[in-house]
Amino acid sequence: MHEIMVAEDDLDPRESHELFRDFENGLSIIFDNLNITTAFRLRRAGKLKYKIERIPGSELPTWMAEIEKTPKVPEGVFECPHCGRRFPTDIQLSMHTKLHYIT
Ligand SMILES: [Zn+2]
Repeated sequence: MHEIMVAEDDLDPRESHELFRDFENGLSIIFDNLNITTAFRLRRAGKLKYKIERIPGSELPTWMAEIEKTPKVPEGVFECPHCGRRFPTDIQLSMHTKLHYIT
């Protein structure tokens, strides 16, 4: 289970209502685009807290099942989380990763 939060608790109630509505609408568009509307639902779990829950008995979209089948990075190989390039040492990866923040 994943939790997400919208952190703006000093808004006036009307603004806050709009913020939550926009947030929920935005996420519902993302759910649609990811094809996960039938597999997951968003539930408000507190004043500033939402939970994404798996709908019991639901089937995952094919793209999610494919990701689970993709081989993981082998041990002793360091993969850049930004572009996927692989390096033999974590130092090389660290030097490479900095480039993503500079450019
Ligand atoms: Zn990279």
